[in-house]
Amino acid sequence: MTPFGSDISPGDAGVPPGGSELSPANVDLLKLAKGRLEELLPSNWIPALMSQGIQVGLRLPSELLLVQRSIFFSLDGRVEAGIHGKRLERDHEFWATVRHVTLYRDSVEEFIGNVVDTVNRLRSFEVCRGVEGFRHLWKTEPKMEIDINPFQELRYTETCRSKSCKLLVPSLRKKRCGECSKIWNSLFHRNRTRSAVPDDVITPPKKKPHKFLSTSEKAKRLHRLSDDIEKLKHQNQRLRKKIEDLIDEDGVRVSDTLSSDIIKILSSKAAGKLTDFQKKFYRAAN
Ligand SMILES: [Zn+2]
Repeated sequence: MTPFGSDISPGDAGVPPGGSELSPANVDLLKLAKGRLEELLPSNWIPALMSQGIQVGLRLPSELLLVQRSIFFSLDGRVEAGIHGKRLERDHEFWATVRHVTLYRDSVEEFIGNVVDTVNRLRSFEVCRGVEGFRHLWKTEPKMEIDINPFQELRYTETCRSKSCKLLVPSLRKKRCGECSKIWNSLFHRNRTRSAVPDDVITPPKKKPHKFLSTSEKAKRLHRLSDDIEKLKHQNQRLRKKIEDLIDEDGVRVSDTLSSDIIKILSSKAAGKLTDFQKKFYRAAN
């Protein structure tokens, strides 16, 4: 077995394809394979010739080109899969039974059969639905990103998914991937705690000592603090990104220690805890 789970590794099948320049014979083989695939693939799965192989894409039946899924098969047996234009990671279970078949004169039928099998395998997966509920909490979770469904999936209209979303899940077994499930659990518990407090309880003033608060008021204050922390985390993350981008773009050479100090200062700003000196530094840096 290769690292990709293949029982036929590139080169094992016999004659290897040529270098970066395709020979006329290889071009003919690709054209032959493409013609056969046009007859064999399910509807809306369209093969296209590429410089070193064949790409098969699931296109929506619309006037504008919109490819929801794509798989690339190179002459030398490499296979890549993309969902919404993002590469499917090699640790995804999709790859467990995908074979890697080299295309040469005597392997055309095997190559075509493998393309059809791989497309059918991809069809047994669905796009992860992400976290469709708890919309009021979406923007409080920095590990998520909103998906407004530009690829017109039918499983959801708008959702929010983990930035590490695995993209595909087995059609019949799961709604969402493991990464999105972790976030769903987190939001579920946060939402349940929030729901436990009656709406008519007013958030107590900041100066009111904790020991004088009723149970509901304590919960309300806890919610407010929790919201504040989430906002600060979000702000902190944006500021870190900003300083990292500045260092990258401007090619500024700073030592790790100084870079870390700057980030700490920016983080302090997010928490509203700048000293006078830090305020001056921050104003000067901006
Ligand atoms: Zn996911």
